Amino acid sequence: MRSARRGAMAAGVAVALAAVLAAAPGSAAADPTAPPTAGVEVEIPGPEHGTLAGSGHTQVPSEGRNQPASRLSVTEVVADGEVAKMVDNGPTGDRLDIVVVGDGYTVAELPRFHADAQQKWAELTAVEPYTTYRNLFNVWTVDAVSNQSGVSGDPSADTLRDTALGSYFWCDGIERLLCIDQDKVDGYVAKAPEADLVLVLANSTKYGGAGYNERSETLGYEGISTASAGNEKSGQVAIHETGHSLGKLADEYFYADYPGYERYEGPEPADSNITTFTSDELADQGAKWHRWLGEQSPDGGTVGAYEGGGYYVAGLRRPTENSLMRTLGKPFNLPGAEAMIAGFYREARIASPVTATDRTLRRGDTAKALVPRLTGADGRQLTIRWYLDGRELKSLAGRTDVRVSDLTLRLLDLRTHKLSLTAEDRSPSVRDRAVARTMRSTVSWTVRF
Ligand SMILES: [Zn+2]
Repeated sequence: MRSARRGAMAAGVAVALAAVLAAAPGSAAADPTAPPTAGVEVEIPGPEHGTLAGSGHTQVPSEGRNQPASRLSVTEVVADGEVAKMVDNGPTGDRLDIVVVGDGYTVAELPRFHADAQQKWAELTAVEPYTTYRNLFNVWTVDAVSNQSGVSGDPSADTLRDTALGSYFWCDGIERLLCIDQDKVDGYVAKAPEADLVLVLANSTKYGGAGYNERSETLGYEGISTASAGNEKSGQVAIHETGHSLGKLADEYFYADYPGYERYEGPEPADSNITTFTSDELADQGAKWHRWLGEQSPDGGTVGAYEGGGYYVAGLRRPTENSLMRTLGKPFNLPGAEAMIAGFYREARIASPVTATDRTLRRGDTAKALVPRLTGADGRQLTIRWYLDGRELKSLAGRTDVRVSDLTLRLLDLRTHKLSLTAEDRSPSVRDRAVARTMRSTVSWTVRF
């Protein structure tokens, strides 16, 4: 997480959230006569296999009120809250940190929680662009010990279980909606050094999940996804939710039979992946995903402007027929993948110093940096270059460490010099130059012979 951007991000997320609230059927915002609710907007996963078309949004209490588990006595548990680094790719300040917390796992079941967290990480990194950029992430687990195994609402609505995070299906009366007590989750997330994304795994095989795509003001993370640990489709819901929280993408599905969603009549939305424009208008105006028009997309078909999206049947268009923002199990489309990569680089940088930069390096020292390897076809686009006082040292290209003694011929003047490494990701999956500029990182040292 790069903390300097936090303030600016908060404003952006607040706007996006307000837009979702205004569009959500059944929410307080959609019904002007309903009293304001101090709740949290969550996304409900769709009922049918593979499709999100039956999905929706609802408000749930922000402090876990009305949750069944809260009526049970809470017993203090010892040896709770242990933090482990499951995937280590470098300093938290330069990487995207995912914090995984389990619920409904007893002490005896903690080893299985760790195995389940590994499994969900494997599901996430099977989807591009996570596959290519997996080494840009750290993954932390926080052990939450529950008094009972399993979570409330599984198998039936009246099933109550005493769990560490108070997870429950049948949230807001909807069977597949898996809610949590956010304050309890935050209590565990705060134990990890840093959180950019939070994943709550419920010890259950029942299909369900939820997306809390509101940035945490206190802990700084971009959102919480909940998923059943033992249900593969739930993992796909969690990946879709990161499309909102990290990619700032809108939903590309629509309510086919819901009054009020037949046609969108409003202004051009701020979201990068839905538009009021036709593909010709996008091209003419150089708007939104115009750089991708006509290209073959990984989710099938070519990028255009397809009618329907952002919950509306007409009046709003989406880039492709069937991306992950519409249909579970599909890949992100080209504009979606670019937005995800932009999100990755909002939280992470591609080069970090290993050798401290706050002292002058002398002849016996080595300047070393950490540059995560990018996997997949796009990984070859990562370049590493070295500069001395701004002049490139071409023979050092590609290296991540250089001995100062190797530079002596150039340092015979005994003055101090600036040695820099610049790593740059020139992925063909990014065409927006403003995004591409964030995909370059420089580490500099002062050196003296
Ligand atoms: Zn969604």
